[in-house]
Formats: sequence, C-alpha cells, structure tokens
Amino acid sequence: MKIIFPYFHIVSDEDVLHVKHLYAYKNIKQFKKDIQTLCRHYRPVSLNDVIEKRKNEREFVKNSFMLTFDDGFREIHDIIAPILIEEGVPATFFLVQSFLDNKEMFYGNKTSLLIELCKNNDKLKEKTESFLKSSEYFMTTVFDTLKSIDYHNRKILDTVAQQIGYDFAEYALCKKPYLTTDQVSNLLKMGFTVGGHSIDHPYYSNLSLSEQLHQTISSVQYLRDRHSLNYGVFAFPHSDAGVTKELFNQIFSSGIVDITFGTAGMTHSCIPQHLQRFSAEKPIWPIYMIIQKQKFRKIIRNLHARKST
Ligand SMILES: [Zn+2]
Repeated sequence: MKIIFPYFHIVSDEDVLHVKHLYAYKNIKQFKKDIQTLCRHYRPVSLNDVIEKRKNEREFVKNSFMLTFDDGFREIHDIIAPILIEEGVPATFFLVQSFLDNKEMFYGNKTSLLIELCKNNDKLKEKTESFLKSSEYFMTTVFDTLKSIDYHNRKILDTVAQQIGYDFAEYALCKKPYLTTDQVSNLLKMGFTVGGHSIDHPYYSNLSLSEQLHQTISSVQYLRDRHSLNYGVFAFPHSDAGVTKELFNQIFSSGIVDITFGTAGMTHSCIPQHLQRFSAEKPIWPIYMIIQKQKFRKIIRNLHARKST
C-alpha cells in the first residue's frame, strides 16, 4: 500500500493551556509547511478513496497520504479546516462523543490545566500537593502525580479542582476547547469527514471486550445517526494495544464500521480494514524528518522480522 497516514491533534499559535503539558503541537507556519511538503511528494486522498480501496482489496498506485486529526478540538474548525481548504487537502476528524459541545473534558486536558495552575501559583501548588499526599496516588512530586493519573482514576482530578477552588466546567464554557455539533455539521458541509474516537477516551487495554465494543460502536453510530453519514470509521484512543481479533470481527461484522485506525506508526496491520497511522507532532520535527524516521523504523522492524523467521 503506497499510502501514509500522518495524524495530528491540534495546530495553534497560542499557548493552549489544556494541551501544553500533554504533548507538543505545531504552530500555523509549521503546519502549513508540513502540508505543502506532503503535497509535493504525496497525493492527498480522501477517506472515501481509502474505504473504496480497502473494500476492493486494492492498493494505491501513486504515493498518497490521508490526513487525520484526533480528539475534536475547536482549532480544527477555526484554524485547521481553512488551511486545508486553501491547500486542497481532505481530512478526517476523529471525535470523542462526550467531549462534543464541551459537555465533558478529557482527563488529559484537565491534567494539563492543573499543572499549568500549579506552575504559576505556589499557594495552589501547595494545596494540591497536600491533598495528593493524603491520597494513595502520590509519587515524588505534584507534577509526576498529576501526570500519572489516567482514565481509571480520573475522578481524582475533579476532586483536586474542587479542593483548590478551580472549575473545569467554567473553563470549558469559556474557552470551548472542543467542537460543537454545529461546527461538525459545517466541517461536513465543507467536504471533510468525521469518525468515532470512543465515548470518553479510555485505554482499550483496560476494558473488557464488551466495553471495547460499546465504546467503538456507540461513538460511530452516534455520528452516523446525528449527521446521516453513509460511512463509519473509528480511531482507537491512545492506541490499539489490548485489541483482539475477536473485537475486530465484532466491529466489522456490525456493518456500522468500515475501517479502523491505530497509532502504531508506519507499519502494516494483519487486519486488512485496520490501518496504522504515525504522529506528525511527536517529536516536533518537520514532516519530512518524521517520515524519514518512520521509514527507518520500518526497515529495522522488517530486518528483525526476517531474522526471527
Ligand atoms: Zn485521542
């Protein structure tokens, strides 16, 4: 398959407080340059092209790329879509059902906000530290403790916020970190496509098979119903670690999901309808350097595979 799948989360020239302590992201100039570099060496293809090729088990003849973005941040509508339209590049946005319309915030985004608060306010840092020290989760510092909190114990972030008098709901209302349903409708009218990215962004490796299936099918079905989509796609949150063949069988036999995406890098999956993507943000290098690194890793992987057979 002569196609690559780079993925991003967010692009901004601003200091995005709910993201900055989670991962690095590109500014507008860096992103535009990446898109122009990709277009010089690869042909942009749409989600429909990819679904069609997978259905017919055919490969792309020319070097191609399909662009995707995870988590459904507002910047997709305000910054990314206008750039992609200008450059003539289609893209698919993977949305988390409970974050849409800013109803709920991703625990990772909450962590980033609390770290930002603690870095800028010694009193709040002390308060947070003394509260976390009384919990079973405390590690060596307030920062590594906050960073260690994940899906299963995410409620502690709300308790910390309560203790220090911080309101995530107010931040969400004021800053609107995620896309609204109307913005998603607008993106679809512009010709972009959307897919599910679970209900609330769990680690699939910590879920039972039925929970994995529910997170997958419900989030795709929700978008299909809400926006009358004639396709269904899904990107696993975090990674596809812990996902079994049995889950793929159930997902694809549901008739609701056409293809799925992982984040294992530039590599093939043994499931034909499951495609692997690589991060175009990690590290913050120009895209051509990231692609070179991915190609190099692929060669090493193939060498190892040949050695072990
Ligand atoms: Zn995600």
